[in-house]
Amino acid sequence: MNEEQRAELMAIAALVDAFVAEPTQRALDTILTRLRRLIRDVQVRAGGIEKLDDGTLKAIGYDGIELTGLRMISAMLRRELRVLFAPPAVPPRAVPGRNEIAAVCAEQAGAMRLLAQRVPPVNFGNPRQGFPGVPFTTLARHACVIDLGTNKLYLSTEPHVRIDLYGFTASIVQLRTLGVTFLGLTGIADLPPQEQSWLCGAAIRLFVEFAYTVPQLCCNVEIAAGDRKLYLRLVLTEDRALFLTCESRIALRARPTGATLQVLKESLRRTYQLRAVSEQGAVWTVEELLEIQAAFAKIPLADRGALVDLELVRSGSSQIDRPDAAQHRGYYDTVNHSFTILNGAFADLNGFVGSGDDAVPYSHFVILHEIGHVVENWYRVPGGQDGGALALFGAQVEALQVQPFTIYAWHNWAAKPIEFFADAYSYFLNDPGAMEYVSHQLLTWFRQGGYRITRGGTRLAMTGLAGPLQTLLGALDGLCNALTAVRSTDQKAVDSLRVSASTLITQLRALFDTLTGYWDARIERAVLWWVAELFKSEATPRLSPPGGGLPAPTVFAELKAIFLRERETLATLLAVVVTPPVRTLRRVSSGACTILMLPDGVTVVRGRRGGDRVMRSLPRAVAALRELGFTGVTLHDSTGGISFWEYTWLYNAAATVFTDCDSQFALAVNVSVAVPSRDRPLLVRFTFFANRSLWIECENVAPALAVPPSVETSTQLLRDRYKVKAVTTAGGCAWTAGELVQVCDAFTKLPAADRRVLQNCTLVRGNGATLGKGTYEAATHTLTFSDATFTSLTEGFHGRSGAVAPPSHWNVLRLVGQAAAMHNWAWDDEPPLTVSLCLGPFTTAATHLGLGASITLLAPDAQPQWIEFFADAYALNLCEPYLLAWISPGLQSWFATGVYRQYVG
Ligand SMILES: [Zn+2]
Repeated sequence: MNEEQRAELMAIAALVDAFVAEPTQRALDTILTRLRRLIRDVQVRAGGIEKLDDGTLKAIGYDGIELTGLRMISAMLRRELRVLFAPPAVPPRAVPGRNEIAAVCAEQAGAMRLLAQRVPPVNFGNPRQGFPGVPFTTLARHACVIDLGTNKLYLSTEPHVRIDLYGFTASIVQLRTLGVTFLGLTGIADLPPQEQSWLCGAAIRLFVEFAYTVPQLCCNVEIAAGDRKLYLRLVLTEDRALFLTCESRIALRARPTGATLQVLKESLRRTYQLRAVSEQGAVWTVEELLEIQAAFAKIPLADRGALVDLELVRSGSSQIDRPDAAQHRGYYDTVNHSFTILNGAFADLNGFVGSGDDAVPYSHFVILHEIGHVVENWYRVPGGQDGGALALFGAQVEALQVQPFTIYAWHNWAAKPIEFFADAYSYFLNDPGAMEYVSHQLLTWFRQGGYRITRGGTRLAMTGLAGPLQTLLGALDGLCNALTAVRSTDQKAVDSLRVSASTLITQLRALFDTLTGYWDARIERAVLWWVAELFKSEATPRLSPPGGGLPAPTVFAELKAIFLRERETLATLLAVVVTPPVRTLRRVSSGACTILMLPDGVTVVRGRRGGDRVMRSLPRAVAALRELGFTGVTLHDSTGGISFWEYTWLYNAAATVFTDCDSQFALAVNVSVAVPSRDRPLLVRFTFFANRSLWIECENVAPALAVPPSVETSTQLLRDRYKVKAVTTAGGCAWTAGELVQVCDAFTKLPAADRRVLQNCTLVRGNGATLGKGTYEAATHTLTFSDATFTSLTEGFHGRSGAVAPPSHWNVLRLVGQAAAMHNWAWDDEPPLTVSLCLGPFTTAATHLGLGASITLLAPDAQPQWIEFFADAYALNLCEPYLLAWISPGLQSWFATGVYRQYVG
């Protein structure tokens, strides 16, 4: 603030003092209006940007935390005093008495006077002794206790250092004095005042503890005050900006399923092919095994081979002197391939790891840290230490300049880099958001399996597979020769053919079995599997017709054609695939594709760009995916009714969709596939992962409404529930009942807090090329929808099982997202802002997370815009939050916790 603004703040404080003596509505209005004008003034000075780089900050003397302080003071006065003149109907609140008014005013006026004072700059930069000079981030966890008797707060690790708790705004002012330059608050503004002061107290204590020694910190804090538990995620950045997020913790622990100890042990043993689940001086409980189960479920499929034959031991306390500092929690014994879990692993019942809805008990961190050791041991190069997972990891963190980011890893660094790997592995699986904060490149590296070596040194499919494959091809040639020579009357020859065919199928399956557990040969395995399945379903019934007897003469030529075709498929496995480039930025897209049955029996898949493709057999389609660069394919059928033929179509469709999308890996595409056998399209999500595996997920469709509500009913609902001003039309267009249902359905996905964005807006049904899929105009607060806004499930879809919706929901919510970016969150009755206040912080956050200015596929020449990116991410968070989390856990939590709402005008 400049001198003029400071003087104005002192003048407002005097008005607050005077209000105590004479509390009139007029006086309160004056206070709030002048405060608001001051806030705008300070904001304008910062050019509408919230968080600036150091240079700009110094040049204009802008201090973000002053703004937060002013806003919170204003919010407190409104919240506590407005009730005197305009009591809200819901919830009913008692009108404050004279003493309460005096207390509120004294606190806020006091905070104003402190805020009006200049604070000398605080010097940081005493890096923790022995730490290298480059910036690094620390991930930590702390527990704070509030002593309700004395109203003091302390860290559970340092009970003797107790600090006093102040009011909310007084705490903000104190943080400013300590040197905090910017304060972001999420989920805190609406809490009861006492809890706000607890959260700020914890922030003050931890800031004092860490700010002088740690450049960047991401800390999960549990605050215990009597029976009340609060969870705080504290993020401190290098330029001393502090972000506090209060998180809800529901269903933190794994839910009991009714399974007994014995059932759980057996299920763990079978699922992960463990040697045993045993006990030594301690016993497993159902709760502990449930946590193990939940933690193990996060281990990537590719790494599960490391657990084969592992013994999982529950023991009381460590008898041996383990070098692992976490020895009171658990350890991995490489010689016996056993993982011992001790009492300490489960002792910390309240600590948590992760954030938002993904937070889990701290035991998950311990469990997956040890699994990190198991995995590292597995990805070692036989006969040496070079080139294994640890060496790959070491090279990566060196290249990225990432320092050990936990205190534990730091203490072990250089001497035992393995602890850094184990902690990083655990964070990668338990709290990807925190790891993304440390280094999004390192998270990407983990996600792409950068630590996985090819077991055996060279690509197995090219060496180990070649010999057995040649033998198989020879056997196939022999069978084809026999098919040419055979006559239907020859019972002996037919018998011999049956034996040859069945031997061939057995050989195919045996080769499939020998490749079990070889990650590198997943797609080759899939081809072998489907060739065997196809031969079985084609050869067996043809050679042994139902009702006995000999096959018809034409059968041999038909079979020979099939065998020759699949011989070609198997032969393609011998070819080396040129690895296509992989993009690191994830994207989402949507589309449609049709499978046509032509009169001559040829089936064609038509892509979005009209690229027809002749239908291939199932094994050939999988082999074609291999040629496109895929290393694995998985089909998840949540509908439970996908037939063999539909499998064939889906694998064919996958290749078309992939080439349609410019052969991009790191892409999730929702496609509705029209197939001849169904009256409704199959809704399929194809995910082309960056590690070049393909997932095909078939979605269930909820039944459509029989009769949509009328235009009048929907219009009334929009007026009542969302307080929209009008639902109108333009250019001779008219709303249909179905369109309004889609609008209403899309709006139900809005969080309650965001409904106010729609207040007083006008919804227009228009048309025209300039409208595209709809527009939002802030000046008139109008959302205009066009023909292109409303599309049906045949043109794509959004959502996942049970909550599948047409693309129109996305289009509608994108427009609401644009409106949300312009909304004035403090004063709902005000028109939208002229400059978005949250777009700057959004840009900063997205850039920090390593994202470009788009998450959807754009035409190559399209100019990406931040507002479009914001609207896309906003809609994606509401339509498919798991996809946004896949793209970036940090960005998903930015939206899920409603950070954009804290930038008020
Ligand atoms: Zn360890």
